[in-house]
Amino acid sequence: MRDEALAAVAAAGDLEALREVKVAHTGDRSPLALANREIGALPPHAKADAGKRVGQARGAVNKALAARQTELEAERDARVLVEEAVDVTLPYDRIPAGARHPITTLSERIEDVFVAMGYEVAEGPEVEAEWFNFDALNFPPDHPAREMQDTFFVQGAKGQGGDGSGVVLRTHTSPVQIRSMLDRKPPIYVICPGRTFRTDELDATHTPVFHQVELLAVDEGLTMADLKGTLDHMVRALFGEGMSTRLRPNFFPFTEPSAEMDMQCYVCRGASVGNPDRPCRTCSSEGWIELGGCGMVNPRVLIACGIDPEKYSGFAFGFGIERMLMFRHNVEDMRDMVEGDVRFTRPFGMEI
Ligand SMILES: [Zn+2]
Repeated sequence: MRDEALAAVAAAGDLEALREVKVAHTGDRSPLALANREIGALPPHAKADAGKRVGQARGAVNKALAARQTELEAERDARVLVEEAVDVTLPYDRIPAGARHPITTLSERIEDVFVAMGYEVAEGPEVEAEWFNFDALNFPPDHPAREMQDTFFVQGAKGQGGDGSGVVLRTHTSPVQIRSMLDRKPPIYVICPGRTFRTDELDATHTPVFHQVELLAVDEGLTMADLKGTLDHMVRALFGEGMSTRLRPNFFPFTEPSAEMDMQCYVCRGASVGNPDRPCRTCSSEGWIELGGCGMVNPRVLIACGIDPEKYSGFAFGFGIERMLMFRHNVEDMRDMVEGDVRFTRPFGMEI
């Protein structure tokens, strides 16, 4: 009986089979259990010998069962580790990851470039007094930008009995420059990112709500050369080494002299100019891309903010984030930026 039990234990191929072997060979109705029960019926002189032999046999079977149990459990654990292994490199898409809007990430990237140079990020209200949005920036009272067809008036529009003291949705982030100059003493180095509003219809290249980044520096002895150096540094930080900018004369009420700022086309770097074999879609083969407006802060603006133009000078520039996003990432339709479709934002990923 012992040998039969030991052979069955050795033959058990898995834990389930071993459980059956255990019931069959050590359970209440197993041959060894029955033999043990029959010892009582033996003549007294035979009891000790029989008890010893049955006890040893049962001990040997229990020991073999325990050993086989340990063995089979180890085999099972090793098999489970292989069969249930998880490949942590597989794509995980049960909860699709969202993405921050590229307008936000690009704006923050630009801010980082200037914060690294010691600039401070300044913000202001989107509903703004007309004085901050126009008057302090040297817009004359009859400037066309003050008309209702260009500007969202919240209160008191020109031509409707308004006296220039209305309330508008800011048309640029320049009022933040004015607030910064009123709040601080020079030297002032601020970057003003934010949402701005104009009465444009939404189409492929216009949107009534858009984003600007403006920059203002006021210090002793600042010149156009400082402005040019700052612009060159910015386009290199955003588009790579070797990029440069150029300035073309222009007019803005709040700067004097004023300039349009172009950056070298970062795709063809000018190689498409006069070269029909290598046309460039990004710059229309002109070699330059118009980025924004800039100039030296008009002394009238400094005076409106209580800063002595004999002692201090300043430079400023500003541009639209949507426009930069369009040519930096080949976004062809501005409506994609405002419609909120996650399929648009997701390819930009989670850049932080
Ligand atoms: Zn180009």
